[in-house]
Amino acid sequence: MCLFCKIVSKEIPSNTVAENDEFYAFHDINPKAPVHVLAIPKAHYDSFNDIPGDVMGKMGIFMQEVAKTLGIDQSGYRIISNIGENGGQEVKHLHFHIVGGAKLHWGHFADADPKDFF
Ligand code: AMP
Ligand code: ZN
Repeated sequence: MCLFCKIVSKEIPSNTVAENDEFYAFHDINPKAPVHVLAIPKAHYDSFNDIPGDVMGKMGIFMQEVAKTLGIDQSGYRIISNIGENGGQEVKHLHFHIVGGAKLHWGHFADADPKDFF
């Protein structure tokens, strides 16, 4: 069973933000912003590549609710899903980082020069 499946089954403890039958949101153990929450489907999908469209629709509604619960829906926030090797995905159970609580940085994502690609 993967790390986040163990968190869903409560085999590994986590700090709950919101939960329903299909989705779970909990505080990231190593926050990179004042608010840093992970939202996941309880069912295991390796990454965003694998989630069916109907489940993704419900996932989006759940994340809208989580942002409201966190009180960041009006101040603004970012949703990030790291996918695969280049995406820097460490946990192979689809998760969305919901980060906010302060003005977020925005910058270059790669050392490679974007001009070399177009
Ligand atoms: P990613 O690099 O997108 O796969 O992100 C994995 C995230 O999971 C990182 O931000 C970690 O800090 C977080 N993480 C790892 N283990 C735990 C845990 N036991 N509880 C909460 N967050 C975790
Ligand atoms: Zn899993």
